Amino acid sequence: MFRKVHVRLAFLCTGITSFILFVMSCCYLYISEAGLKSRSFTSFQNDMNTLVSNLEQQTIITHEWLTRIEDNGKYLINVVDNGVPFLYNERNTPEQKQLFEAAWKFYEHTFAVESVISAYDTWHMEYTFSSTGSKQEDHYACVTTSRRSTGTLQVMILCSMEPLLIQIRTQRLLFFLLDLLAFVALALFSWYFTRRILKPLEENQKRQNQFIASASHELRTPLAVILSCASASARAPKEKERIHFLESIQSEGLRMSRLIDDMLLLTRADSLSWTIQKEPVELDTLLLDTFETFEPAAAEQSIRLLIELPEDTVPAVRCDPQRIRQVLAILLHNALSYTPENGQIRLSLLYDEKTVKLLVADNGIGISDEEKPRIFERFYRSDQARSEKGHFGLGLCIASEIIHAHQGRILVSDTPGGGSTFTVILHRS
Ligand code: ADP
Repeated sequence: MFRKVHVRLAFLCTGITSFILFVMSCCYLYISEAGLKSRSFTSFQNDMNTLVSNLEQQTIITHEWLTRIEDNGKYLINVVDNGVPFLYNERNTPEQKQLFEAAWKFYEHTFAVESVISAYDTWHMEYTFSSTGSKQEDHYACVTTSRRSTGTLQVMILCSMEPLLIQIRTQRLLFFLLDLLAFVALALFSWYFTRRILKPLEENQKRQNQFIASASHELRTPLAVILSCASASARAPKEKERIHFLESIQSEGLRMSRLIDDMLLLTRADSLSWTIQKEPVELDTLLLDTFETFEPAAAEQSIRLLIELPEDTVPAVRCDPQRIRQVLAILLHNALSYTPENGQIRLSLLYDEKTVKLLVADNGIGISDEEKPRIFERFYRSDQARSEKGHFGLGLCIASEIIHAHQGRILVSDTPGGGSTFTVILHRS
């Protein structure tokens, strides 16, 4: 599913950004080409102005003058005196003659009326036209007409727009290549970044799936016991046996309920919807309360539970007392579970200017270095814990979520001489 979303997102990002880039390139090209065309036509008009004023000063149009004006082939000239083509026109190739034919036709069709009504003795007109009849104009043309005593002299000058068209085509090709390059870069960029954006979501989804799988697995065991006890109790001939099965159903039901509570708590932590109600808490009092609560259970297991508190007053810390109590209960419950008879569990509190530390140290079975990073994972249990009922592998994970919600830390280390020490670090401010 994520692969599909990744591909779609990458396509979408590349598509949108490339489209914007393409539109912007087109706009730029349009403006730039319009500027180029206008500058080129203005330059042609300026040349023609000079040429026409030069022509006005000529009483006789000589071949030398015309050749000079052709400017090494930059311009093509066609002269018509009283409607009769000049001999000079014969120098043109058949293609050039055809070109002039088209240009004259275009001129007569478009500007002839304006020429007739002109009030000037000499006037000229510049325009662009297409020699092939297509939409793409390919020549500049200037027709200058002078009324003389001998009649009307018309000179047509043509200039190919090829250099301008080459410049435009080169610019378009350059932009196309740049856009292509940008498209490839954008595609790679989108692919990489959408992957990065989706990675945490994918990991989260994976974690959720794992969580659901583990939760279902954990729920299946008590459920199977409940179902088999229910059918056994239905078949049980004696009242005493039936009560025994019903008690089993009740205890498994309670186990399921505890597991569901833990899972709901973690789900709320994931969706950041659990509430931490902070208030100033005297942690030494809270630790003493917890100690007193767990003392009977420790005594029952023949484990020595000790508490060490600083002699001076411990400054109050802003935290949620119920949640911190829950963390201490998880740690103490674990310590009692993994410490053998005649063992010892020590509760202590340390503080400095910035932090307050709560320590639960036991001299039990200890945690290997390989296991230490894994014990805070959901549903992680050591092999030994796996065999014991009531251990779902969620306790430390819940404790860690609570402490992180307080912006604190929870660490595990070895107790000198054997066993494990859990340290909860809370910030004083
Ligand atoms: P569980 O319900 O199995 O105790 P936890 O998340 O509280 O789940 O603990 C995860 C695992 O960490 C346990 O299965 C156990 O292997 C290990 N563990 C936790 N506390 C202790 C401890 N005090 N001593 C030794 N092992 C511990």
